[in-house]
Amino acid sequence: MSRVYNFSAGPSCLPEEVLKECAAEMLDYQGTGQSVMEMSHRSSAYKPVIQDAEAMVRKLMNVPDNYKILFLQGGGSTQFAMIPLNLGIKHGKAAYINTGIWSNKALKEAKKFINVDVIASSEDRNFCYIPKVEKVTGDYDYVYVCFNNTIKGTHYEYIPDTGDIPLAADISSCILSEPLDVSRFGLLFAGAQKNLGPAGVTLVIIRDDLITETPRAGTPTMLTYKTHVDDDSMYNTPPCYAIYVVGKVLHWVEKQGGAEGMKNLNYAKAKLFYDYLDNSSVYRATTDKGSRSIMNIPFLTKETDPEKADVINKKFVSEAAKQGLVNLAGHRTVGGMRASIYNAMPIDGVKALIAFMDKFAKENF
Ligand SMILES: *Cc1c(COP(=O)(O)O)cnc(C)c1O
Repeated sequence: MSRVYNFSAGPSCLPEEVLKECAAEMLDYQGTGQSVMEMSHRSSAYKPVIQDAEAMVRKLMNVPDNYKILFLQGGGSTQFAMIPLNLGIKHGKAAYINTGIWSNKALKEAKKFINVDVIASSEDRNFCYIPKVEKVTGDYDYVYVCFNNTIKGTHYEYIPDTGDIPLAADISSCILSEPLDVSRFGLLFAGAQKNLGPAGVTLVIIRDDLITETPRAGTPTMLTYKTHVDDDSMYNTPPCYAIYVVGKVLHWVEKQGGAEGMKNLNYAKAKLFYDYLDNSSVYRATTDKGSRSIMNIPFLTKETDPEKADVINKKFVSEAAKQGLVNLAGHRTVGGMRASIYNAMPIDGVKALIAFMDKFAKENF
C-alpha cells in the first residue's frame, strides 16, 4: 500500500494513526461486537464517544465554562443561516467583513433575514489581504468574520475588537491550527472536513447569552441553537461516526502538544513553503505578507500569458500527482495552484512538494 501526500482543501488528509485506529475498531468497537457506525446514538457504548469528543474540544481550545459545544449537521454553510436567524434578533442588523468567497456566501445568506453592513472588504485587490479594522461600533447584533480564507489563502493575524458586540467567526479551515482565545468570540464554527475529521459534522462553540429561546420568526426547530443545546446535540440522530473520528483526531492533536504544538509544526511548514516561494524566480505566492494563511497556500508560476499559464498549471498538477502529490489545483474560481497543509500534513509532505517544484521549474522554465 502506498499513501499519497494529499494537499486537498477539504475533505483533506487525516492522521494515518487515526485511520489505522478506525480500521482496527471497524468490526468490533471496544468489545461491543459492533462498529460505531451501527450503534444507537442513545446507547451506553456511544454516549462516552460524543462526551469525550466534547471534553477534548473544551480542553484543547480552552473553552470557558459559559460556552456550549455543539456537533451539528448541514456543514459550515448551514451556519451562514443559523447565525443571522439566532443572533440577528435585537436590531436585525449585523456587520460583515468580506474577505472572499466564504464570507461573501455568509453575508448573502444573512441578507435573506437581516440587514447587513459590509464594514470592510479586500475585494479591491482580489482578496489577497485581510483588512485592518478599527474598533467596531454601531447597533449591530454581531460582527462576522471568516478567520481563514481557504480559497484565497489569507488569515487574520489579529482578532477584530468589537467591544460588547458579539464576534462570530468561521474557523472551518484553521480550527486548532494554533491557539485561539475563545473568550474573544461570541460564536465559533467549523465544518470538520478541513482540520478536524471527516465531512458530516460541524462544530459550533456558542456563548450562553447568545442561545436564544426566540430566534427570528419562522426559524425551523433544527436551525435553532437552543434545540441542540437542550438535548446535548442529540435532538435528532447526530453524525455519530464523524464525531467518533473527530474525537480520535483531537486525541492525536493532544499528542502533538495540543494547539501550541500544532502551531509550532504549522508555522514551520508554512515558513518553509513561503520562504521557498518568496525566494523563487519561477513561483510566487499570491497573498500579502501579514495576511498569509498557514493552512492554505495558493501560488502561481511566472507565466503571465493566461493560456500558457493554464497549460503549465495543468501540467504541474498532473505531474505532481504522478509523484504522489495530489490535489494541488487551485480552486476552480481562482486557478493556479494551492497547497493545503492542514494539521495532518507532515513536514515531509511540504519538503517533497518543494523538491518536486524545483525539478519542475528546471524542466519547464
Ligand atoms: C469549506 C468551508 C466552508 C463550507 O463548508 P461546508 O461544510 O462545505 O458547508 C465554509 N467556510 C470555510 C472557511 C470553508 O473552508
